[in-house]
Amino acid sequence: MIIAIDGPAATGKSTTAKGVAQQLGFIYLDTGAMYRCVTLAVLKEGVDIKNSDQLNDLLSKIDIDIKMEDGSYEIFLNSEDVSAEIRSPEVTRNVSAVSAVKEVRQAMVRHQRLIASKTDCVMEGRDIGTVVFPNAEFKFFLIADSYVRAERRRKDLQAIGEEKSIEELEEDIKRRDEYDSSREISPLKKAEDAIVIDTTYLSIDEQVSRIIEIINMKQ
Ligand code: C5P
Repeated sequence: MIIAIDGPAATGKSTTAKGVAQQLGFIYLDTGAMYRCVTLAVLKEGVDIKNSDQLNDLLSKIDIDIKMEDGSYEIFLNSEDVSAEIRSPEVTRNVSAVSAVKEVRQAMVRHQRLIASKTDCVMEGRDIGTVVFPNAEFKFFLIADSYVRAERRRKDLQAIGEEKSIEELEEDIKRRDEYDSSREISPLKKAEDAIVIDTTYLSIDEQVSRIIEIINMKQ
């Protein structure tokens, strides 16, 4: 079974998806982390994303591995733990442009479908319900007020020792959503049959239980 959770940046998708996966005993896949890994590799290798030869060469050489152990979730790029590095402001600033490139999306979607072909999965991203798994059994689209999202992102950044003002973060989030929503391939968009959940005034526990309730009700 696939449970797709999509939505704009910092609407609580990751924490909610992780909680839902834990309660159901499913695996959880953060597809944003995969696009962040490619972005990190592009930046490290100085690849020009408009040069498809360079990009294809990079994509053929990178190996993204996700390890889930005792509730922790770690992302490895070519065997190196990059869980913190992929959340850096530099990666965040560049990830939308890298994610908009066809070759990158094709490679990531292939990887995502392969992972989910082996097991029940809660997959979180921007295009899971629309493109990656249009036939997912359950589709949710999370939204939240932009100020609350900026506050959440500030806490995430503080956890890795970075400091940014709420205003700056709100601007960053809006810019990234605008870029992600207006790209040509697989834009951020609610699937027609997705259930919208506004997380502005919800705690993580409430977000998780709302989704679990809906799943139980429909099954
Ligand atoms: O979820 P997160 O904010 O970490 O995602 C980082 C970026 O990765 C998004 O802004 C978007 O550009 C890209 N992304 C995407 N498709 C997905 C997941 C993330 O294009 N399924």
